[in-house]
Amino acid sequence: MADSIFTKIIKGEVPAHKIYEDEDTLAFMDIEPLTDGHVLVIPKKQVEELWDLDKELYAKVMDTTQKVALRIRQVLKPPKVGMNLEGFGVAHVHVHVFPLYKGMEATMEDYSAKTERQADDKSLTEMAKKLAF
Ligand code: 5GP
Repeated sequence: MADSIFTKIIKGEVPAHKIYEDEDTLAFMDIEPLTDGHVLVIPKKQVEELWDLDKELYAKVMDTTQKVALRIRQVLKPPKVGMNLEGFGVAHVHVHVFPLYKGMEATMEDYSAKTERQADDKSLTEMAKKLAF
């Protein structure tokens, strides 16, 4: 199996704005944030679907997801913290965690209207510094 872009991030071959890391999981800023503060939580083991993780690793990914959500809540104080799972873009489990200031539909409308979706390095670096734990 070829290394996914996320495995390359784990190996340090591709840069990322990391906010949390432990033995089994990693959390870093999404380069095309739905909202400012959008984080991806991944297992270090390259598996395509969350549902195929063994129970232990599934629990570890969800534990890190909760830690990240609580950190976003503590630092950015949004009304809600959202979570999403799709995986059409990258074949390596990743849970999206992001601050929400309005409902999903309205948030998606704002995102679709953006002309430039990729965040600049400076804003990702600053956000990662705020969220890191
Ligand atoms: P999916 O559509 O698979 O649920 O989401 C994949 C996510 O990975 C997207 O939100 C996309 O912006 C993000 N992504 C893709 N490549 C990279 C990358 O090289 N670095 C980072 N930080 N995020 C990436």
